Amino acid sequence: MSQNPDSTQTITVDLGPRSYDIAIGPDLLDNAGALIAERLGERHVVIITDSNVGPIYAERLENSLAQAGHTGRTIQIDAGEQSKSFVYLESLLNDLLQDGLERGTVLVALGGGVIGDLTGFTASIALRGVEFVQIPTTLLAQVDSSVGGKTAINSPHGKNLVGTFYQPRLVIADTNTLKTLPPRELAAGYAETVKYGLLGDPEFFGWLEADGAKVLEGDPTAQTRAIVRACEMKAEIVNQDERETGRRALLNLGHTFAHALEAETGFGDLLLHGEAVSIGMVLAFDLSVALGLCPAEDATRVRDHFKAVGLPIHVPVHPNGNWNTQILIDHMGRDKKVQAGRTTFILVRGIGEAFVTNEVEEAELVRLLDTLAKAA
Ligand code: ADP
Ligand code: ZN
Repeated sequence: MSQNPDSTQTITVDLGPRSYDIAIGPDLLDNAGALIAERLGERHVVIITDSNVGPIYAERLENSLAQAGHTGRTIQIDAGEQSKSFVYLESLLNDLLQDGLERGTVLVALGGGVIGDLTGFTASIALRGVEFVQIPTTLLAQVDSSVGGKTAINSPHGKNLVGTFYQPRLVIADTNTLKTLPPRELAAGYAETVKYGLLGDPEFFGWLEADGAKVLEGDPTAQTRAIVRACEMKAEIVNQDERETGRRALLNLGHTFAHALEAETGFGDLLLHGEAVSIGMVLAFDLSVALGLCPAEDATRVRDHFKAVGLPIHVPVHPNGNWNTQILIDHMGRDKKVQAGRTTFILVRGIGEAFVTNEVEEAELVRLLDTLAKAA
């Protein structure tokens, strides 16, 4: 990691010829054109953004690109998860091709995870692959989805089931874009930030317990520090296991539970992904305590911190009935990470000590999930 005088920090994801930098700091949007030119030269660039982010930030990015000598235009897509679909993919590809997309064109994703995933997938298949740059504008995307090269759209059969591993050429995380992010979205992204402490860095979790509120209050120094640490850890894990055959699965801490909860609540407003991950991480700690693997005090610390920053630790009221243990277990059985019929769980031996297992007995799960149904 290097530090420039202007408080920008740069982390390199080391993947040989596909290595790339993540630049993190306040007001980087105005510098994006130069950051791209330094690495990729002056290029034809198409910005892809959504109807919430575009009106606030596209013009600044366009100006920065033009100043650095790039040419290009902006495509604005409807905001919302429905855009991660075959229909929007096709329309985006046609729009690009009609305009004479060339191999040398660079796609720039300006937005949250939806825009990043759709743009990345499009870049990976258009003309058999064009380069792309991520400019994530949600905390969730800055600490997690913009780094690591997973791209996807949803299928009627489930979320993120169609996609590719395809690395960006550069990631630019401007902490000041978080100022306009709805507070609930910021908190949801914070849950994914805490995940890095819980899975592998107890000191980082300790810092978040003390100073994490500053990240949510919009303090750029605290935000930069949190994003840098999350990206460093993600970069290190991805560099060891780009295609998730082993260690990368640790990044799914809380996610087996979260996906089941999201499937039940319709992947919508009732429970944002980061909120589901918050509850899911509490459940992963509870299960680890129940199995005698983790001290109960550690699960309490996790709960206390989430409560302190306003993240959910209990499931919401079920949208149409009651929480049903068997249905939740069935959802977990459909997870992408199921191997030979066994659901993979990330459990913990304590804060910062996560590990992967597919040895959890169903009876233990039933016991845990039954208590959750009662608590709702
Ligand atoms: P993620 O998957 O990263 O949570 P989404 O792409 O679903 O992100 O974005 C969440 C919501 O926040 C969307 O409605 C999106 O348009 C909006 N959004 C994203 N970034 C910003 C921002 N910086 N300011 C305001 N709204 C934003
Ligand atoms: Zn997640």
